[in-house]
Amino acid sequence: MPQWAPSMLFICIAPKSEAVSLFGAVHIRKELKMNNAEKNIGYTFKNVKLLETALTHSSYANECRKESNERLEFLGDSVLSIIISDYLFKHLKNINEGWLSKYRATLVCEQSLNEVAKKINLSSLIRLGKGEELTGGRKRASIVSDAFEAVIAAIYIDAGMEFVRKWVIDLMRDAIDIVVSGHGYADYKTMLQEVFQTGTTGKVTYRIVSETGQDHNKTFEVEVLVDDMPKARGVGHSKKEAEQNAAHAVLKAIGKVL
Ligand code: MN
Repeated sequence: MPQWAPSMLFICIAPKSEAVSLFGAVHIRKELKMNNAEKNIGYTFKNVKLLETALTHSSYANECRKESNERLEFLGDSVLSIIISDYLFKHLKNINEGWLSKYRATLVCEQSLNEVAKKINLSSLIRLGKGEELTGGRKRASIVSDAFEAVIAAIYIDAGMEFVRKWVIDLMRDAIDIVVSGHGYADYKTMLQEVFQTGTTGKVTYRIVSETGQDHNKTFEVEVLVDDMPKARGVGHSKKEAEQNAAHAVLKAIGKVL
């Protein structure tokens, strides 16, 4: 087994070395690492093995014959989904299920979770195999977001649903606010088009109502029309900003955004 260099052996033996004084230092280092992880995560586990597993990528698990975080990720995916669905359902009373699903999908996607995971510095805590480490796996959004889901499952098992719900919402509140206020979605103009345009009807157009002020400080007022019917107006310092504001006004009036 040429790839099992002595250093690799050292790393892999470490977790089993608790009773062996020779590896005492390694054991302490490992404990510190988990303490560090718990500090970042903001929760002290009753069963710290759950956290270790949640932070174990399959590449490390294969090299070191450990359990990977894949089963926890499976569970965490569902736990996260129910937490977000429940939150959106209770807080957005006038939003239909189509938009609720879009909001949820935006919040639980790889990129979003990768961003949220930065708040707890998760990527530095993941146990990666050597190959994966060398090819930049630590920076890969899929690996980080999967580990994040696994950590959610670990907390869920260790502390229960109410605790993990609070933990997730606290961590994701900014992201939720952004998505819910409409900014997380592509943009209001696109959103408006999707709401109204069905085949040949619901054509959304914009027209400039007025253009005032000096060249360097102009104010535009724009009207948005659906099938040539005026729906709302918006003001902005560029044509685009005014159009976005007009689209937002229509979406707000029909309860699609807050
Ligand atoms: Mn996943």
